Amino acid sequence: MAMQEEIYDVTIIGGGPAGLFAAFYSGMREMKTKIIEYLPYLGGKVPYFYPEKVIRDIGGIVQATGEEVTDQLVQQAMTFDPTIVLGERVVGMQKRADGNFQLMSSNGQVHYSKTVLLATGFGILHSIKLDHPEAIDYEEKSLHYTVRKLADYQDKHVLISGGGNSAVDWALELEGIAKHVTLIHRRDQFKGLESSVTKLKNSRVNVMTPYEIKALHGIDGQIEKVTLRHTEGDDGDIELPIDRLVVNHGFQINLEPITSWGLDMIDGMIAVDSRMQTSMEGVFAIGDIAHYPNKLGLIAGAFNEGPIAVNHAKKIADPKDPVKHLFSTNYAAFTEED
Ligand SMILES: Cc1cc2nc3c(=O)[nH]c(=O)nc-3n(C[C@H](O)[C@H](O)[C@H](O)COP(=O)(O)OP(=O)(O)OC[C@H]3O[C@@H](n4cnc5c(N)ncnc54)[C@H](O)[C@@H]3O)c2cc1C
Repeated sequence: MAMQEEIYDVTIIGGGPAGLFAAFYSGMREMKTKIIEYLPYLGGKVPYFYPEKVIRDIGGIVQATGEEVTDQLVQQAMTFDPTIVLGERVVGMQKRADGNFQLMSSNGQVHYSKTVLLATGFGILHSIKLDHPEAIDYEEKSLHYTVRKLADYQDKHVLISGGGNSAVDWALELEGIAKHVTLIHRRDQFKGLESSVTKLKNSRVNVMTPYEIKALHGIDGQIEKVTLRHTEGDDGDIELPIDRLVVNHGFQINLEPITSWGLDMIDGMIAVDSRMQTSMEGVFAIGDIAHYPNKLGLIAGAFNEGPIAVNHAKKIADPKDPVKHLFSTNYAAFTEED
C-alpha cells in the first residue's frame, strides 16, 4: 500500500529571518507549517555573516547582535512547533493536478504542501574558498571564512586576506582583541567604505599590499605560519607566523534551480504582487528574494512581508477562512509553558 502523503498547509523554503517570522505567524493562524533549510542551522545570512555584529535598525530593538536576534527569532518561530528540516536543499517544485505542491530535495526527500513560501534570500551561500590544496586541513580549525566568535581570536596572531568591506571591518574589529592583526590584499586599493579604509590607515593593523597567500604551514589543523607572495613579483616571499587565518575573498550565491521554476523574475529577484504572491498561484516570496516597487532589503521589511503572504496562503489552504489581520495581543498565552 502506498504511504500516506503528509500534506502541510504551508512549506517555507529558507530558515532566515523572513522564513522564521513567517513560521511564527502561520502557527498563529493555526496552519500546519514546515521550514526546509539547506544550512545545518537556522537564521540565514545573519549567523552566517554577522553573528557578533550589532544590528540597530529593527523597530523596538535598540541594539542586538546577530546571534541575539537569531536566538529570539528561532525561539519565536518554535512557538507553535513547526516541522523543521535542516541540511536539505529544495531543488524541484511541481504543482499537481489536485492543486497541491510537491517539493523535491537534493537528497531525494519529497515534501507535500498546499502552499509554498519562498524565503530563500538570494539562494544558497558559499564562501569563496582559499585556492590551495592544503587549506582543507585547517578549515574550521584555524582557517575561517567568516568571524563567528570574536573570543576565538583573543591574544592571537591573526592574518586576514581580502580587500572588501568585510575584510577591512574584521581587521578593525579584531585589532582590539587579537595580539596582532595583519591584513593582506593582492591589490593596492581596498574596496571597503571610505570611512573604514581611513580608519584602517590610522589603526595598528599591519597592512601589506600587494600580497597573497602562497603556502600554509602547520600541524594537526593548527596553522603556524604562512608564506606570502608579492603579487608584482620582485620583492620575494615573506614568512609570517600566525595562529588564525581569516579568508575573506567574497562569497557566491546560487539561486538555481529556483530561477527555472517558471516564476516571473525582475533583476534576479522573484516578482510578487501586493499579496506577496508570485506569478504562480499558491507560491509566495518574502524577504530578500521578493521584488516589488521600492523594495528595501531589510530584516524589518521581511517581518511585514511574512504575515501578508501567510494570510493569503491561509485563504488557499483553507478557503473558508477569510484573510485576517490578527494581533498577537489577542492571546493571553500561546503555549502551556508560557
Ligand atoms: C554583512 C551584512 C550585514 C547586514 N546588516 C543588516 C542590518 O544591520 N539590518 C538589516 O535589516 N539587514 C541587514 N542585512 C541584510 C539582512 O541580513 C537580510 O535582509 C536578511 O537576512 C534577509 O532574510 P531572508 O530570510 O530573506 O534571507 P536569508 O537570511 O538569506 O536566508 C535565506 C535562507 O534560505 C536558505 N535557502 C536558500 N535556498 C534554499 C533552498 N533551495 N533550499 C533550502 N534552503 C534554501 C539559505 O540557506 C538561507 O539560510 C545585512 C546583510 C549582510 C550580508
